[in-house]
Amino acid sequence: MIIIMEPKASDIQVQKVIDFLKANGFEIRFNRGEIHTVIDAIGDKTTVTPGRISGFDGVKEVKIIREPFRLASRDRKPDDTIVEFSNGVKIGGNNKPVFMAGPCSVEDYDGLIKVAQAAKESGCQFLRGGAFKPRTSPYDFQGYGEKALKFLQKAGNETGLLTVSEIMDASDIDLMCEYIDVLQIGARNVQNFKLLHAVGKCKKPVILKRGLSSTIREFLLAAEHILYNGNPNVILCERGIRSFDSAFTRNVMDIASIPVIKKYSHLPIIVDPSHGTGERYLIEPMAKAGLVVGADGVMIEVHHDPENALSDGKQSLPIAMFKDVMSRLNQLTEKIHYEKNCLSANIG
Ligand code: PEP
Ligand code: MN
Repeated sequence: MIIIMEPKASDIQVQKVIDFLKANGFEIRFNRGEIHTVIDAIGDKTTVTPGRISGFDGVKEVKIIREPFRLASRDRKPDDTIVEFSNGVKIGGNNKPVFMAGPCSVEDYDGLIKVAQAAKESGCQFLRGGAFKPRTSPYDFQGYGEKALKFLQKAGNETGLLTVSEIMDASDIDLMCEYIDVLQIGARNVQNFKLLHAVGKCKKPVILKRGLSSTIREFLLAAEHILYNGNPNVILCERGIRSFDSAFTRNVMDIASIPVIKKYSHLPIIVDPSHGTGERYLIEPMAKAGLVVGADGVMIEVHHDPENALSDGKQSLPIAMFKDVMSRLNQLTEKIHYEKNCLSANIG
């Protein structure tokens, strides 16, 4: 890390920083300029974090040279992580992008199975539905809990789809793992560190959604918590961030985050254009955009009767529209997959 001292930092203040870093095993190069003194410290940032140094008197700024997410970084693991399921489905690397679909909340079994069958027919690999719902208002529908997990499992078994559902509390881990294949951590829980640690300790694949106001670095550091606790099966999900203009879209779906994350991390990343935009008509163009820039999959909210959905009806595709959208997304996926593999075969 590089430590820039205040112009008026005294020799004693500079020496205190240097002594502390040296005592912690850092190698120091330092440059006393006319205005600023700059200390270049090379060593293990797990023993002394940049935040620890910025507390010293006379320190103006601490810059990091290497990204603080280690296990999630491509420097550490150049090859893409591929999350593999027992039925042969794979997410990441040169594998064909996957599709996940389902209602925001699991309501009744009849509705769920209609959506599940449409998802299966349309080439999806995952059925996704909420059992425990993180709702801004306590008066909104909170999810049917275990009953919904049972419906999901049943619909998954009947269609052969893998199942995804959100975990809100670490104490639900055993219950969730009994019924479903992938644990989702929602945007509101991206920095719930106890939850991240808990899913890190179990080996179920985890879909980690970007937080409403997460920077890309914070997002990758959240994933780092899961990796650090022992679970390598992390799938990131870009679901839009909050910005100043909510007149036309619920969130700003940060398409650039996909190639950025691909550059700095080996983890697979999917896109969620439903929460990313909040608008039915934007799901297809934004799913396409995500696929074109390299997303490893797409997650879409679908409901058998969106007008009467208990949550997120506005951004859910009705079944007929979903099938239509999927036919075009499948065509695009084939094309992208073909080009990606031809390219890597030519390079290889
Ligand atoms: C959801 O997937 O239904 C959900 C609540 O998503 P997010 O956490 O991205 O808001
Ligand atoms: Mn939703």
